[in-house]
Amino acid sequence: MNKELILLYNSHLNALTKLAISSLPNESCAILLGKRVDTKSIVKSILPMTNSLHSSVAFNINPDDLYNAYNTARLSELDVISIFHSHPSKLLPSKTDQIFMLLNPVIWIIYSTSLNNFKAFIFDKFDHLKEISICFIKD
Ligand SMILES: [Zn+2]
Repeated sequence: MNKELILLYNSHLNALTKLAISSLPNESCAILLGKRVDTKSIVKSILPMTNSLHSSVAFNINPDDLYNAYNTARLSELDVISIFHSHPSKLLPSKTDQIFMLLNPVIWIIYSTSLNNFKAFIFDKFDHLKEISICFIKD
């Protein structure tokens, strides 16, 4: 069985890192559009979102922004394949994150601004939290 994998261009990695750092001390968030083929998801574009909670421990995307993101995906014939957000500290989904991950069973990417590192997670069909490999590719 093929391993689940998400592919991110280096330019996307840089854009997400910048978004996270410029949003400090608050958490940042973004919707990632792309395509999924078998067990591989490839990110094609990034839609930075506003953290409507303006919080350093949580994030929320307001429904209008979310609607626009899904509309952009539809118009560009891409899928919402991942939800990105940043943490000032550890790289694990919080309890609140996990509730929303169950509601939005796409790949969730977390970036830690203190660790300068990315990790990706998903809930599998048995509702087990699973880490997914991230593969960075040259533009
Ligand atoms: Zn979180």
